[in-house]
Amino acid sequence: MFSVNTRLDTPKRVVFTSPFVPPEWIAAHGLVPWRKTSDGCHNGSGSSGAPVNVEAGVCSYMSSFINEVTSDPRTLAVILTTTCDQMRRGADLIRLRSRVPCFLMNIPSTCGTPQADALYQQELERLGKFCLSLGGKRAEPERLVSILLEYDINRRMVLSRQKELSAGDFARELQFFGESGKVRNEHDAGLSCARPSTEAVPVGFIGGPMTARQFDLFDVFADHGAEIVFNGTESGERAFPSRFDLRRITAEPERVLTEAYFSAIPDVFQRPNDRIFSWMEKEVAERRVRGVVFIRHVWCDKWHAELFRFRDALKVPLLDIELDGGRMNERTRNRIGAFMEGLR
Ligand code: SF4
Repeated sequence: MFSVNTRLDTPKRVVFTSPFVPPEWIAAHGLVPWRKTSDGCHNGSGSSGAPVNVEAGVCSYMSSFINEVTSDPRTLAVILTTTCDQMRRGADLIRLRSRVPCFLMNIPSTCGTPQADALYQQELERLGKFCLSLGGKRAEPERLVSILLEYDINRRMVLSRQKELSAGDFARELQFFGESGKVRNEHDAGLSCARPSTEAVPVGFIGGPMTARQFDLFDVFADHGAEIVFNGTESGERAFPSRFDLRRITAEPERVLTEAYFSAIPDVFQRPNDRIFSWMEKEVAERRVRGVVFIRHVWCDKWHAELFRFRDALKVPLLDIELDGGRMNERTRNRIGAFMEGLR
């Protein structure tokens, strides 16, 4: 059995944030995958040496992510995806203004066709060659299957913690798993079980990524009597791949990987993008959600363009929160209070 942890051999990291980049594939090439959640502390304001400054027209999440990873000496390379213009622009800026190798992975926006699946698999092959150029090794089938199985088990384990933890702690656990492929034991993580009051109002989140410091938002909602019953942001369980098909994993591991990631994760950039609406409507109905919080970043056209469709599709109230990378302001706190008051 091979271990996911290849840190001792190759301590530098191949860093990405998109959920469509499979860490298993990078680990199978002998490198260290690191799905990074931006800290949200480095958006380019006041730092002239950063690849992305505030004038670059890149959303606050992406500018923080790029500036953090390119200034981190542990970064071996960065992978961005073509899922939005801002990431494409980010890849250009990394190539122009930093020495960190950057791979732009083409994620087809059309999904559900054999041609699109084949394109994604071709991109995996291209990513594999990029890993080799960084000093990685060939992804031997036996090694790949072993890593897929290990990730699959750990992923189910971390997802099973949702009911035990507060939404903020659960998001931090998902973050830890994204970075390491591992699950902390409760003692190491310093976690405590969250037992929401029976009066708590079930609320769901949908939207783009959240920075680590924006996880405080969950606590603000909890303080106003909410129980966050699903996290459909890019930092939550919505952006997790489906379970691997264990019956076919040995015979065709790359196809199984494609199905679990590309064919299963719902997102707004996809055409058609009905899958993400179906996902949300199912969660709202099954968990008896009384209100939904919509998370988007300033400059993020992808999520902003879908706001009205989400509002239309829902049978419960929606609160739109626009994040600018800074600390939460008083106005947002007041809006959250008023929203929760209205749901009671
Ligand atoms: S938040 Fe929006 S603009 Fe920023 S990287 Fe994600 S999809 Fe792109």
